[in-house]
Amino acid sequence: IERHGAHLALIANTLYAATEEHLHSFKTARAYGATDRNYAIFYDLSRHIADTYVANTREQAVISGWFQIGAALILMPVLYVSVRVIEVSPAELLLLLLIYMRAMPRMQSIHSDYRNFIMAWPSYQLVIELEAGCLAAAEPPPMAIAPPMFRRELQIEDLSFNYNSAGLPALRKVNLQIPAGRITAIVGPSGAGKSTVGDLVMGLFPPDSGRIAIDGTTLTPGIARAWRERIGYVANETALFRLTVRENLLWACPEATEDDLANALRMAAADEFVRALPQGLDTMLGERGATLSQGERQRIALARAILRRPALLILDEATN
Ligand code: ADP
Repeated sequence: IERHGAHLALIANTLYAATEEHLHSFKTARAYGATDRNYAIFYDLSRHIADTYVANTREQAVISGWFQIGAALILMPVLYVSVRVIEVSPAELLLLLLIYMRAMPRMQSIHSDYRNFIMAWPSYQLVIELEAGCLAAAEPPPMAIAPPMFRRELQIEDLSFNYNSAGLPALRKVNLQIPAGRITAIVGPSGAGKSTVGDLVMGLFPPDSGRIAIDGTTLTPGIARAWRERIGYVANETALFRLTVRENLLWACPEATEDDLANALRMAAADEFVRALPQGLDTMLGERGATLSQGERQRIALARAILRRPALLILDEATN
């Protein structure tokens, strides 16, 4: 049973991952004329899950059949001895049968609950492992100190980072100085580690070795959250929400005024197209901003980052 359970947990994970991937790639799948192949992948996975359930149910039915046969085989000698040897009265015999009939389904349900428990155990363990992993990676509680202002420079010294110990490090002894109030471009081929530098500068995860210093203050997990208050970030995949344009902007800076919004939109060259939207700033966007063009989404994301009046503005994949 445990094997069935572990197998089920594994293929259910695969199915969820495939579902998410395919929901995000409908357009590409249709453009490639690959919808049949997607269908086949889902068909195979869901049939696999169904087969595992059927196998488990069948096993349970067989066991329950044997359970009943066994019970009847035990009951026969008990009845024989009661009637012929002990000579219990018919009333007592009826009582005996009643107790037996009440007790049997209980025994069976204990057994099937036990089976269900063993079956669900591997999935439960996966959730517990995930939770433990998340807790281990959690940021320490923020320290009660003001975040560095970033008035002079950001210094990156001998920075190394490895996503997993098996592969090549993403960054190896990187040294870099980023002056405040200036534009610094980090240029390199795909996979060179540009986004990783950005993530480390935001303190999203600590480096393996080396350090990042903001005006001389070392960026530690304890001050990372406060430091991020000073950062505006535009990811290479814009993350907008199914809210109005205004709500998407205020999400980054709830205390912004109407003037702040107008300014930020102007600086991101988004004011004109936002004005042209049916309800202007109060136009509802689609899921992840789906009702806008890619470029328009990027501009809203830029306006959102500018709205925070960040000391450091990080544009991942600025050419988008
Ligand atoms: P760039 O932004 O320059 O294109 P990245 O910083 O995204 O490059 O990636 C640097 C290297 O780290 C790449 O070799 C990539 O394969 C690896 N990498 C990036 N993100 C992850 C991740 N989440 N897990 C494992 N490896 C990763």
